[in-house]
Amino acid sequence: MIKPEPFKFLCPQCGYSKIVKPKSDVLNSVAMINICPQCKSKMELKKLNIIDKLFG
Ligand SMILES: [Zn+2]
Repeated sequence: MIKPEPFKFLCPQCGYSKIVKPKSDVLNSVAMINICPQCKSKMELKKLNIIDKLFG
């Protein structure tokens, strides 16, 4: 079984970021929760890089 890779939402407006570790089919609902809680902008979906994995 392939383990889903964690990923990150990043808000280009205020810099807010949130790391998401998907479980099973969470990806289907992720598209609906990509609104920044701070400024209500649409956040960008980023793949985690090695630095995020170290400090996340
Ligand atoms: Zn924001």
